[in-house]
Amino acid sequence: MYERELRCTGCGKTYDLIDYYSCDSCGGILEVCYDYEALRRENTIDRIVPEAGESIWRYKMLLPISDEGCMVSLAEAGTPLIRSGNLSRILGAEQLYLKDETRNASGAFKDRPISVAVSKAVELKKTAVTAASSGNAAASLAAYAAKVQIPCYIFVPEGTPVGKVAHAVVCGARMIKVKGDYSNSYKMAGIASKEFGWMNITTTFLNPYSFEGDKTVAYEIYRQMGGHVPDWVLVPTGAGPLVFGIYKGFVELKNLGLSTTVPRMAAIQVEGCAPIVEAFEKGGRGVKAWKDVRTVASAIGDPLRGYERDGDLVVRVLKESNGVALAVSDAEVLRGVRDLARTEGIFSEPAAAAPVAALRTLLRRGTITRGQSVVCVITGHGLKDPTSALEGVDVPVIEPDLKALEGLDLRHE
Ligand SMILES: *Cc1c(COP(=O)(O)O)cnc(C)c1O
Ligand SMILES: [Zn+2]
Repeated sequence: MYERELRCTGCGKTYDLIDYYSCDSCGGILEVCYDYEALRRENTIDRIVPEAGESIWRYKMLLPISDEGCMVSLAEAGTPLIRSGNLSRILGAEQLYLKDETRNASGAFKDRPISVAVSKAVELKKTAVTAASSGNAAASLAAYAAKVQIPCYIFVPEGTPVGKVAHAVVCGARMIKVKGDYSNSYKMAGIASKEFGWMNITTTFLNPYSFEGDKTVAYEIYRQMGGHVPDWVLVPTGAGPLVFGIYKGFVELKNLGLSTTVPRMAAIQVEGCAPIVEAFEKGGRGVKAWKDVRTVASAIGDPLRGYERDGDLVVRVLKESNGVALAVSDAEVLRGVRDLARTEGIFSEPAAAAPVAALRTLLRRGTITRGQSVVCVITGHGLKDPTSALEGVDVPVIEPDLKALEGLDLRHE
C-alpha cells in the first residue's frame, strides 16, 4: 500500500512496480522501496506491525500489493517461535529460540515469498507463472497457483526429493526436470519466461516481490519476543533472499522507531556448496559460482552460476549487520536433524537443520556467547525429504509375538 517503486541495489535507478527482474543499466538486483514516512504518519504502529498470526497479509502495509482482492493466502506464516529447553542445554546456549517454519501451509517458509509473488502476478493479470526450484518453492508455487487457478510450469534439478515433486504434481503444476544442478533449472525458467511471457517467480533475488515476503519472519520474531530484537538470527542460505529479507525486516522495524538495534545475521551454507561463505571469508565482494555441488542439503545447494551478484548482495548485508557466514558438513547437518528431532520433537529436512549444526561451532569459537539470544530459522519439514533421515537405519519387521520382540535389542540409544 505504501510501496513506491523498484530501486536498483547497485546503481539506484528506479522502475515502476511491474515485472522487471534486473536493472537494465547495470544488471543489478531490484528491490521494492516504500514511503516509510507516510506510513508512519498515517498509521499507528500496532496497525503497521500487528501481533504474529495466520497469514502474511496482516503486514500488508509493508508488502507491495495494493489491491486487497489480489492478496492470495493459504493461511501461511504465523509460525511458532519455540523457546528451546533440551536443545538449549545440550548446546549450551541459554536463550535459544526456534522459528518453526515447517508449520507453513506447504511445510516450508517459501509460502511467504511465493504468496507475495503470486499475488503480484494476479495484480499484473499474468496468465501463467514459472519458476526454478530445488523443490520447496515448487510445492509452494504449485499450491498458490492452484488457489488462483493460474497454470504454472516449474523447472527442478533431476535429483529433487520425491516428496517435493509429488506435492507440486498433485497441486497440478507442470513439472519439468532439468539435468545438472539448480543453476541449470534457473537458466531454463529464465528462457521460458522470456519466450512465453510467463511471470518468473523464482525465489532467488530475481523476482523483486518474492523476497518482500521473507521480511515477515522478522516482524513475527519481534512480536513473539515481546518487542525485543534477538542478538543473532541463523539462517540456512542458498541464494540468500531469506537472510536478506529477515535483515531488511529488522531494519524497517528500527527505522519505524520500534527498536534501537538489529540482529547480527549468520548465513549458514554447506561445505559441498558454499559460494557465499567463500567470498565472505576472503573479505568482500566477488562471489564466484560454485563448481561441483555435493550435499545432502539439496534446498541450499545453489551454485549461483550466472547470478553471482545475489551472493554479493548477501555478503554486503552480512557485513552491515556485523554478521558471519559459515559452512557446515553434511555429517554435521544430519546430526543437526537428529538433535532437533530428539530434543525438541521437530522433524526438519537437512537444510533446515544447518543453523543448529552451525550453532555448535559458533559457540565453540566464541563468535556467539552462551548468554546471547539466538534464533535458528528451521526452514522446511522433514517429511518432504525423508530418504536422508532413514539412511543407515534398519527398522525391524517381526512376527506378532513376544518372543520375536524379546529377540530384538531394546536398549534405547
Ligand atoms: C529455499 C530454502 C532455503 C534457502 O533460502 P534462500 O532464500 O534461497 O537462501 C533454506 N532452507 C530451505 C528448506 C529452503 O527450501
Ligand atoms: Zn542498476
